[in-house]
Amino acid sequence: MKDLIKSIIYEIWSYFVPEKLSYEITGSCKKCGKCCNYMYSVDTYTEKEFKIMQMIFPKYKRFYIKGRDDEGNLIFACKLVTPDGLCSDYKHRLRMCKNYPAKRINYPGKLHDGCGYKVNTKNFEDYIK
Ligand code: SF4
Ligand code: SF4
Repeated sequence: MKDLIKSIIYEIWSYFVPEKLSYEITGSCKKCGKCCNYMYSVDTYTEKEFKIMQMIFPKYKRFYIKGRDDEGNLIFACKLVTPDGLCSDYKHRLRMCKNYPAKRINYPGKLHDGCGYKVNTKNFEDYIK
C-alpha cells in the first residue's frame, strides 16, 4: 500500500518536472523564416480545433493551416512572413515569436534544419550533479 501511494505521488510529480527544465540556447537567428513558415501546435489536431483556438485567441488569426506532414499532423504558417523570410510586423510580433526558441518547454522541441540557434539539452547525469 505504501509503495502504491509513493508511486502515485512520483507519477504526479513527474508531470511538474518538465515545467522546471530550462534549456541553454546558443547561436543567433539567420533570418531564414523557416520557423514562421513551418510550425506545429502540440494540441491542435483538426481544422475545427484550430478555428476554436483562433476564436479563443484572436491573435492566432495570423496563422493558417499550410498542410499536414507525413504523420497527419497539421502544419501552420504565418500570414505575416515575407517571401524573404522576414516578419512584416516585427514590432507587433507575438510573445511566442519574441521568445523563440523557448528556453522552457514542456515537451521535446526540435529546431528547423539550418536554424542558427542550438538547444543544448541536459542529460540525466547533468541533472543529478
Ligand atoms: S528557423 Fe531559426 S534561423 Fe530561421 S528564422 Fe527561425 S529562428 Fe531564425
Ligand atoms: S508574427 Fe512575425 S515573427 Fe511571428 S510567426 Fe508571424 S512572421 Fe514570424
